[in-house]
Amino acid sequence: MNFLNIKGRVLRRTDAGFESAVLDTLFNKQALERMPDLLAEPTDVDDIITVIRYARSAGKKISICSGGHSWSANHVRNDSVLISMTHFNRYEVDKANMRAKAGPAVGGSVLLTALMKQDLFFPAGHCKGVCIGGYLLQGGFAWNGRKLGMACESVIGYDIVTAEGELVHASETENADLFWAARGAGGGFFGVVVQFHLRLYPRPKYIGAMTQVFGMKHLEDVFQWAWEVGPDIPPAVEFQLLMTRQTLTFCGPGIEAVAPVFADTKEELEAAVDFMRNSPVRKKAFLRTPLLRSGIGSMYRFAMTHYPERHCWGVDNMWTHAPATELIPFLRQIADTLPPAPAHVLWLNWHPPVRQSKMAFSVEDQIYIALYGAWKSPADSPRYGAWAADWMRRMEHLSTGIQLADEGLHRRPARFLSAEHLQQMEAIREQRDVKGVFHRWHDAGGGR
Ligand SMILES: Cc1cc2nc3c(=O)[nH]c(=O)nc-3n(C[C@H](O)[C@H](O)[C@H](O)COP(=O)(O)OP(=O)(O)OC[C@H]3O[C@@H](n4cnc5c(N)ncnc54)[C@H](O)[C@@H]3O)c2cc1C
Repeated sequence: MNFLNIKGRVLRRTDAGFESAVLDTLFNKQALERMPDLLAEPTDVDDIITVIRYARSAGKKISICSGGHSWSANHVRNDSVLISMTHFNRYEVDKANMRAKAGPAVGGSVLLTALMKQDLFFPAGHCKGVCIGGYLLQGGFAWNGRKLGMACESVIGYDIVTAEGELVHASETENADLFWAARGAGGGFFGVVVQFHLRLYPRPKYIGAMTQVFGMKHLEDVFQWAWEVGPDIPPAVEFQLLMTRQTLTFCGPGIEAVAPVFADTKEELEAAVDFMRNSPVRKKAFLRTPLLRSGIGSMYRFAMTHYPERHCWGVDNMWTHAPATELIPFLRQIADTLPPAPAHVLWLNWHPPVRQSKMAFSVEDQIYIALYGAWKSPADSPRYGAWAADWMRRMEHLSTGIQLADEGLHRRPARFLSAEHLQQMEAIREQRDVKGVFHRWHDAGGGR
């Protein structure tokens, strides 16, 4: 037993291996000037309750980590107790009722791959390694997400340990305030989620993708086309432009136009990519693929080419509905300053429907632009670390807010909840976390 008398591992700042254990929790390897005082790895709910009681009595704040994929390393904070949920990595599928229960440290790709083998589906994220803990709390932009909605809209219940150290269930009818807040609070949530209750869907019958790759000289034409065609792209398609100095990992600088499709019929699959087949710029592409049928494994492999492990990352983003004429001159300058691959720019065609769900998540727009600065050696951090945040700051007048998925709030404050929802969130926090035990978002002012 350790000094907290819990079953899981506990390391204090003075213990050998403490710092490396904290850094091991992180996907983003960028050097940090923050460090918690204690790392606890509870194995069950009783352990979590003990850790919360300890933090309260010691006057420390709590931060939480499930998969450690927060770009801003949101869980690594000074003067705090870090709860790593690494042991909460089990899931159970109830096919008859189209439901699943899953711990926060279950990888989204692990869950989805297992579900698809049973002809089931859940809107999991696009990369391996991301765990459902942080992913579902911030909203969750998913494979087939333009059809199925934000992934958190498919969460029907949460088991949560509160700031008072009490295990509660939250759903539409029970602790509805926590249920509302958990669907969008992201890294500012005030409780420890120990289990998610999920709604499942039948597996889409047809998955495929069409790709066209353009040289940088066509940047203006390609983004103009993407902007114009965006509103008419069917919800079965998550159309995106990926701008990088190394398209397809070896083809040099340019823009990958990718249309992944999740369809229920062959006709839907084929029709979904008509906008690519008939595109006025398609002939300018130096590489064009037909519509290729694919499994989810290939989709993950393609996505991961842009997000390799063991790199430092500086990431920021914006939602926008600004005219192409205002966005494109910035995109040209961003292309000119783009760090080497795997750094890249993502333009995602979103055009969301009006959402009916009662949830905290409230900021989205027609187009999503995210900048992913990436570099291998920490010595390059001064050179590339602020690239993404600096460009997003210059483009703030064109932005309507950010996604918490790709937040860089430690570098640049931005709006991530509507004013009304931020106010409601803070009112719930005051009731549920009276003593302010849980850390808030890096930008302590919240959204603006
Ligand atoms: C390579 C990569 C690809 C990504 N792809 C996508 C994508 O396709 N779609 C998308 O929507 N997002 C994506 N993201 C963003 C990702 O969803 C968020 O960073 C998310 O927070 C990661 O979840 P996590 O559990 O792995 O991270 P963590 O860093 O562990 O969690 C992030 C924050 O969430 C809170 N939190 C985590 N677990 C709990 C818990 N159990 N209880 C209470 N609070 C908790 C904590 O405040 C924590 O700091 C991606 C990120 C990376 C690095």
